[in-house]
Amino acid sequence: MEIAMVCTRVNLLILILSLCSPYKFIQSPMDFGPLNLLPTTIAASSDFGRILFHSPSAVLKPQSPRDISLLLSFLSASSLGKVTVAARGAGHSIHGQAQALDGIVVEMRSLPAEIELHKGGEGDVSYADVSGGAMWIELLEQSLKAGLAPRSWTDYLYITIGGTLSNAGISGQTFKHGPQISNVLQLEVVTGRGETVTCSPTKNAELFSAVLGGLGQFGIITRARILLQEAPQKVKWVRAFYDDFGTFTKDQELLVSMPDMVDYVEGFIVLNEQSLHSSSIAFPANMDFSPDFGTKGSPKIYYCIEFAVHDYQRKNTNVEQVVEAISVQMSHIASHLYSVEVSYFDFLNRVRMEEMSLRSSGLWEVHHPWLNMFVPKAGIRDLRDLLMDNISPDNFEGLILIYPLLRDKWGTNTSVVLPDSGSTEQVMYVVGILRSANPDEGCSHHCLQELLRRHRHIADTAGVRIGAKQYLAHHPTPAGWHQHFGPRWERFVERKNRFDPLSILGPGQGIFPKGSTGVSFRAVSSAF
Ligand code: FAD
Repeated sequence: MEIAMVCTRVNLLILILSLCSPYKFIQSPMDFGPLNLLPTTIAASSDFGRILFHSPSAVLKPQSPRDISLLLSFLSASSLGKVTVAARGAGHSIHGQAQALDGIVVEMRSLPAEIELHKGGEGDVSYADVSGGAMWIELLEQSLKAGLAPRSWTDYLYITIGGTLSNAGISGQTFKHGPQISNVLQLEVVTGRGETVTCSPTKNAELFSAVLGGLGQFGIITRARILLQEAPQKVKWVRAFYDDFGTFTKDQELLVSMPDMVDYVEGFIVLNEQSLHSSSIAFPANMDFSPDFGTKGSPKIYYCIEFAVHDYQRKNTNVEQVVEAISVQMSHIASHLYSVEVSYFDFLNRVRMEEMSLRSSGLWEVHHPWLNMFVPKAGIRDLRDLLMDNISPDNFEGLILIYPLLRDKWGTNTSVVLPDSGSTEQVMYVVGILRSANPDEGCSHHCLQELLRRHRHIADTAGVRIGAKQYLAHHPTPAGWHQHFGPRWERFVERKNRFDPLSILGPGQGIFPKGSTGVSFRAVSSAF
């Protein structure tokens, strides 16, 4: 009944938009003219996770930010209070975050991927003005032509600027330059009220901060001004192996304490042959590391630190000498340090190679029950133990990333949630369980549900025991979200009431139940 009513509302909206729009509409049941309000597609109802499939009632393919503004202005002024709208970037979420059950999905990739570069002179910064629907790979390709590149990245580049800025955008450069949300100078946002607003740290600053890490709740990012730096030509890419967790994390923390020499730091757990092989597809060094993983009853695991040095570092110093100066201070397994020189483009685009390999073996379009967490430094060993209690190395498909970040590179006013900064500890870790579950290899419904249950157990236990916070979070209830935000909940709700009071935006996150009003947000809030 409810579904039918909402469908009717959307159809009514389409009809009213057709009648009210200043545009000339083509009179065909499937074609809604310049607004491109189209019937739903399979893509709009799914994402990389392949866990949830919520079908919207219609899809908007905007040709300009004005189309988005027109849609949201109409919805916020109309009595169609329950119609929701989700911006969808590249759809690489895991738990339906960019989906809108019975609502409208705005396909941000339809916006022209305009990229304007500004090369700064002396004392002037370089930046790119880029569409919120453009992918990072497009910005990289374009900016490299001018010898420039963004400073802060994600491991994978076929995701959109608006999508990662709505979360944080982290990778091995984050310890040095902060997350992507710390490298944005200005945004153009269409709020839930339909207003198009230019915002920055000095202009409409509250909206700027709200939207960064804002999970698509306050507005749709239609344009972003991204800070650029001079791009190196080449990168020295190094991997070192460990058989002791404490030594592994100690060396990672050493590396992030040397930002003048090191440009990138990550690391992962080597659980089995498969995780060693799949993580090395893009790493073109000859490695003779063939560890003994022990037996099923007493498995042995290893760890790998990955770091990189850009070739323009210290212009008069050979990059080999920089790597040597760094590695002599490290305590990896003797003789198991491997290095290779690759182009900056290939280094940044390394996950694409893994994607191609997985696609060719039919292992890309499978379920991805991923779990990412920010973990306080004090709890990182406990977290490792918790993982090992809940994961069996012999049947784990995927990768477990672990690497340190530094708190002072994160603004305190954005919407991102980090573990409590009760201590003065600068270091915190990101831990990503990036797991694949292939139905063709026996992991169908029940197996997937069991993996999701275990991940929820890990996330809940790590939250209570260690104070970890999920990144790219998924909480099945508003109560879970309230707990996730903790003391930041009130500010999040205030921002929602201010920029999207009818709760039109971001239904797939499940933070504000569909149809809530400003009053009931407070009711939800005060119920805890
Ligand atoms: P979508 O999944 O389409 O959307 C994500 C959320 O953002 C939704 O809530 C959506 O409504 C909202 N949204 C999308 N566009 C906009 C917009 N323009 N304005 C406002 N809200 C918007 N993340 C990292 O930080 N570091 C990594 O290294 C990393 N590696 C990854 C590797 C792979 C293979 C994959 C699949 C994901 C990875 N991610 C990583 C996660 C990724 O950053 C997020 O999933 C991100 O949301 C994906 O961007 P998207 O364009 O696909 O967003």
